[in-house]
Amino acid sequence: MSLLVVGSIALDSVKTPFGQVEEVLGGSATYFSVSASYFTDVHLVAVVGNDFPREHQELLTERGIDITGLDRVEGETFRWVGEYGYDLNEAHTLDTRLNVFESFNPQLPEKYKDIEYVFLANIDPEIQLKVLKQVKNPKLVACDTMNYWIEGKPEALKELLRHVDILTINEAEARELTGEPNLLKAAEVVKGYGVKHLIVKRGEYGALMFSNGSIFNAPAYPLESIFDPTGAGDTFAGGFMGYLANTDNIVDSSLRQAIIFGSAMASFNVEAFSLERLKNLNYDEIKERFNEFKKLTHFDDLK
Ligand code: AMP
Repeated sequence: MSLLVVGSIALDSVKTPFGQVEEVLGGSATYFSVSASYFTDVHLVAVVGNDFPREHQELLTERGIDITGLDRVEGETFRWVGEYGYDLNEAHTLDTRLNVFESFNPQLPEKYKDIEYVFLANIDPEIQLKVLKQVKNPKLVACDTMNYWIEGKPEALKELLRHVDILTINEAEARELTGEPNLLKAAEVVKGYGVKHLIVKRGEYGALMFSNGSIFNAPAYPLESIFDPTGAGDTFAGGFMGYLANTDNIVDSSLRQAIIFGSAMASFNVEAFSLERLKNLNYDEIKERFNEFKKLTHFDDLK
């Protein structure tokens, strides 16, 4: 099945304890679509300015991503400046310049309107909702957000969540969104918004899924060198949704497998800055990492 994504396409400037990059390719929709492209066909909705390098656009098309829904307009591309300390789980935003996203009014190409799997990657919740409303009959809708929107557009975000099946969000943001420091209680609050499944991303501690009264706890893949966690959450979501769209099966066992694929994809992404690692993977190495997760958490039954 095809997968539709709306979100940011960015030029990121990022500093981690291991290096620094200026104006490299980033954005929630970028990481998501490249990651999901290893599993299914991806159709992208976003906007860039006329300063957006052609080679970045080519990276997307080389991965087979449909960019019919990508607008190129007068003005500057979205910019994000962030920094990480030795605790790589926490990004510190130094600057967010929405630029061309400020006036973006997405109009879905006709062929996108029948797509059944939808991911609303981190961007203004009003834009996320505008896109969702144009999809005729979505089967599975997942979304992500961050503190910038939780604080800036809380009402629009709550309205959006009424139409969403799965929320993927990082740990600190789950607490901030719900006002509930305990994650079990936060999951209950999110359920009250109308969301069926909550996935809490916990950086190097893995991911937790709360769904239908059960909890699934996936570890993160242990890595010796992590260069840049930027995009890990979006890459996770790309593997997760890409796998679900590919199998067209959203039962609990598939959701769990999808979480492991998401975790595997995120583990590749953090090994390099920008999309340097993510852009050159093959399905065999992804599957191999999936299998290693099984070994990581296997233990025998009691005799
Ligand atoms: P994450 O997966 O959470 O590490 O997402 C990182 C990406 O989110 C970066 O490439 C940024 O360009 C993008 N980003 C940062 N802030 C925002 C924002 N307020 N809205 C949309 N995208 C953002």
